[in-house]
Amino acid sequence: MLTLAPYSLGVGDRFSLQAQAQLRAFALAAHRGVEITPVWNKSNREHLIVGSEPQSVARAAQEAVTRLRWNKAWHVDADHIRLDTVDRFVPCSDFFTIDVAESIGRPTPPDQATAFVERHPELSPEVRIPGVSHVLKTNKSQIQEIAKKYLVAIAEAGRLYRYIVKNKGEGTFITEVSMDETDFAQTPVELLVILAALSDEKVQVQTIAPRFSGRFNKGVDYAGNVAQFEKEFTEDLAVIKFAVSRYGLPENLKLSVHSGSDKFSIYAPIRRVLRKTGAGLHLKTAGTTWLEEITGLALAGGEGLALAKEIYAQALKRREELSAPYAAVIDIDPAALPAPSAVARWSYAQYAAAVRHDPQCREFNPSLRQLLHVGYKIAAEKGERYLGLVRASEATIAPNVTQNLFERHIKPLFLDS
Ligand SMILES: [Zn+2]
Repeated sequence: MLTLAPYSLGVGDRFSLQAQAQLRAFALAAHRGVEITPVWNKSNREHLIVGSEPQSVARAAQEAVTRLRWNKAWHVDADHIRLDTVDRFVPCSDFFTIDVAESIGRPTPPDQATAFVERHPELSPEVRIPGVSHVLKTNKSQIQEIAKKYLVAIAEAGRLYRYIVKNKGEGTFITEVSMDETDFAQTPVELLVILAALSDEKVQVQTIAPRFSGRFNKGVDYAGNVAQFEKEFTEDLAVIKFAVSRYGLPENLKLSVHSGSDKFSIYAPIRRVLRKTGAGLHLKTAGTTWLEEITGLALAGGEGLALAKEIYAQALKRREELSAPYAAVIDIDPAALPAPSAVARWSYAQYAAAVRHDPQCREFNPSLRQLLHVGYKIAAEKGERYLGLVRASEATIAPNVTQNLFERHIKPLFLDS
């Protein structure tokens, strides 16, 4: 069976030009003795907005792997796919993130929920999970309620999983199940029920992405109670360990954190818990490479800086349209967005300082960063003018991309500083 290594990091590359610069960050980690598997992820939503085909991600990744002579594992993730969107991802992906968030809460026929409760007497009236300081008190009606809320979604995950098996072959891909794009965080008991149900469906799930509490806005830091997150993260890991032995799920099953990128304030807690428990982690980042791209474009000055300013001005004009697909995961304060006429006078350094995620920097503007984060559609519309300038600005873009991944993400999460 194709298995995912203990540490893996999902990276996004909107325009498929930065795979080499990204891979260099993983090579730096390998050089320091820590193996982290790169997983290139691009969701159907991103492909639709950019107008790209899934094949382009695999091609760019393969080229980077060949050029840098990367001889360790790497994967291509069909991110957040459903039965109606999976087809074009099947030939070129070996990692599938099955997204069932939309079906959470669709009512399960009562007899099916009852059958689940009967099948799982171990889930009530309490579950003792090693590593969870308190006993999880449950009862039959609570388990029944949770089953009612999730079984339709899990059955759908099963259908999609079997569809991929049929079209690609058993054991030829890595399966992730994601439920992060939903309004409410899942409790450890809910996670346990979900894992039991996935095992009933015989889904060989290797990573699971629950919704954690707090906000995971795109490209900016975590907004929530960090101590609460650490407790939840620890309990989820304990639940996973329990479920692996109890339900015979894959040994390497681990948590996937759909970070939306740059959740710096939870990196230290995550690292602490991983050290303590020996657990693995998949951390998904997404749009920050595109932000490094536009920052590097600005740093190139001249036409690059002019285009970066133009993209901002147009993104501002079309803020509502660009924000709509991401409404649940951004928090832009319109009053904090500078006027295009002011931005027009910025130096390359001012532009970069406003975008770059340096929380200590006074010029850093999180609203502007989030607007640009969702503004990649504008760059896509520029077509060859954008792509050509990005290629020509490799000298200022590539180091940004590598350093961002290595210094801000890989180091705090996985390396001894
Ligand atoms: Zn996600």
